[in-house]
Amino acid sequence: MRRLISLIAIFTLITNISVAQEVRNIIYLIGDGMGLASVSMMQLENRYEPTIFDRADNIALQKTYSLDNRVTDSAASGTALATGQKTNNTVLGQLPDGTPLETLMEAASKLGKATGVVVTTYVQHATPGAFYAHVASRHDYATISEQLLYSDLDIAIGGGTHFFDERYGGREQALAAISNRGFAFYQTLDAASASSAPRKLILLADKEIEQRTGYLASATSAALNHLEREGGDSGFVLMVEGSIIDGAGHGNDAEGQQAEMRDFMEAIEVAVAYAESHGDTLVVVTSDHETGGLSLVSSNSDFNLSEQGVEYRWTTDGHSGIMVPVYLYGAGAELINGVIENSELGAKLKAIVAER
Ligand SMILES: [Zn+2]
Repeated sequence: MRRLISLIAIFTLITNISVAQEVRNIIYLIGDGMGLASVSMMQLENRYEPTIFDRADNIALQKTYSLDNRVTDSAASGTALATGQKTNNTVLGQLPDGTPLETLMEAASKLGKATGVVVTTYVQHATPGAFYAHVASRHDYATISEQLLYSDLDIAIGGGTHFFDERYGGREQALAAISNRGFAFYQTLDAASASSAPRKLILLADKEIEQRTGYLASATSAALNHLEREGGDSGFVLMVEGSIIDGAGHGNDAEGQQAEMRDFMEAIEVAVAYAESHGDTLVVVTSDHETGGLSLVSSNSDFNLSEQGVEYRWTTDGHSGIMVPVYLYGAGAELINGVIENSELGAKLKAIVAER
């Protein structure tokens, strides 16, 4: 009997250790401006059949306020999610006094992991920028462009050619700067996929990517292939942003937000499928803040009547201060739960990366 108990104790110890060691790769998906109402809208569209959100292994809620405001912008919330520390609105990758904060990507690449970002907006935008840049203002695109080239990112996919051209005084000079920093530059996903360059900058548009159908899922697959190869045994960290969910919220455009959410969900499907076929991958899906104060209200307030349908009502053209969800899938999904700060989520992911 005593032997059985000690065997059970050893087994428990081994399984606990293996849970902690299991996370080699992290795929971090951020729906910019995605609130619980955005998710509920997709559940409704899917007639309450399980969506990719409903298939999460674990969930948490995070508080999004910034250091200087109850309602955050994408720079402060991106910084919290990427570095583990809150900062003021507009500030990117550093404290208000200018102290730079180590990002999840910087921590990962120090440990030999490959890192990358995939977005539907420009790669210098606040959310992706929080993962590699350190500037007082998110609007300083020239410096952010330059810092991207000096970062350790192995792949960056999105728009943003315009800001490189502006920073370096023309396309030719921009291309020279990009290649001097060791990046191979591509204007299509196909051209990039055909190349085996170790560092890739794939800019598909001057600013935002306009034709998005299927783009985010294909770009996520392309980034996963690249990072798997470059990261080897050390693994990788990939950030994927559904960037324009936020823009649809600012425009109080329910149909636009549904389209952006569909694209984002396709990318989540790709990430979760990857985690399911590779046992050592943690998928984290969250938002940086809610945009639009969206609510799903009954078309008729008399609940004695049968189904009257719902209306999408927006309460602001800005951001709101409500909590946003965190969905976790795959290895280590049990490591994050409860009601947490946005910065706590960033800090936990850095701790998970450091454990390997
Ligand atoms: Zn916004």
